[in-house]
Amino acid sequence: MRIVVLAGGIGGARFLRGLKAARPEAEITVIGNTGDDIHLFGLKVCPDLDTVMYTLGGGIDEEKGWGRDDESFRVKEELAAYGVGPDWFGLGDRDVATHLVRTQMLGAGYPLSAVTEALCDRWKPGVRLLPMTDDRVETHVAVEEDGERRAIHFQEYWVRMRASVDALAVVPVGAEQSAPAPGVLAAIAAADVILLPPSNPVVSVGTILAVPGIRDAVAAADAPVIGLSPLVGGAPVRGMADKVLAAIGVEATATAVARHYGAKGAAADDAPAGLLDGWLVDEVDAAAVADVEAAGIRCRAVPLMMTDLDATAAMARAALTLAEEVRA
Ligand code: GDP
Ligand code: CA
Repeated sequence: MRIVVLAGGIGGARFLRGLKAARPEAEITVIGNTGDDIHLFGLKVCPDLDTVMYTLGGGIDEEKGWGRDDESFRVKEELAAYGVGPDWFGLGDRDVATHLVRTQMLGAGYPLSAVTEALCDRWKPGVRLLPMTDDRVETHVAVEEDGERRAIHFQEYWVRMRASVDALAVVPVGAEQSAPAPGVLAAIAAADVILLPPSNPVVSVGTILAVPGIRDAVAAADAPVIGLSPLVGGAPVRGMADKVLAAIGVEATATAVARHYGAKGAAADDAPAGLLDGWLVDEVDAAAVADVEAAGIRCRAVPLMMTDLDATAAMARAALTLAEEVRA
């Protein structure tokens, strides 16, 4: 079975671990968000790709959910001693090696997709990890600080400000001019199932869908498209997804996010093409099932907390079961 997953960082990576456990024989292609990418100290950092690679490759800091295990921060301390910022980004010593290899290869002319493949040669994540694009896309967030509106990098909003002020707008800068990375559209077209894991609908999945061609390919795919809600009981399970949902006028509920993705084949004239055949909500949101189904999306309520590998594998199995139902 060929499965395509559109993934952000922590939520996407944890789900993928469960999916691999549930279907060890499946051929899984991950289309990773690169809108979080940032240049720091001359290094190209790809937080979401690295989170997927380290999580599936056994190198992740399990506690934090990002970065390398057994990490130290001496480089960061030395940079701070020079007064060289930013000081809010957690750049670990072991992690720096990944960014050095990536930056060096990009400098030598390799596209990000080839660099990611080379990094995965070491980590052997057990999936084919593709960046959504080889082009530079950077998510910026418009905020008001001291009475002035300005756009800042998503990482600055998320990490430095902890999303403590309202996001007025979220813009994937460069997305319109970008093209899907080699292999992305082919993988979508050849998929037996396409999954939207519990990743951030705006700054992870939304950014991937903003690369011209990807959304239409998913909407047009023969494969069932099944999503899992990252919102449980009207709030994100972790992180501040509600802040960026508010910026695009979507309520922080499982139903609102399903409607935002839209029912497959249900596009109005100039609205973006609808994507979902099926949607999983958590058991606490069982009351949402009827609303989602009224929107033309097959919906089931199942436990959606990724507390351990077994629970996460059960979520993946529920998504694949719903895909079978839709197909039948
Ligand atoms: P990021 O790039 O690290 O922010 O990761 P993602 O975009 O992949 O995922 C973040 C989303 O995952 C957040 O909106 C969380 O609400 C969601 N999430 C995290 N853990 C869980 C969980 O156990 N269950 C569900 N349903 N969602 C989760
Ligand atoms: Ca991310």
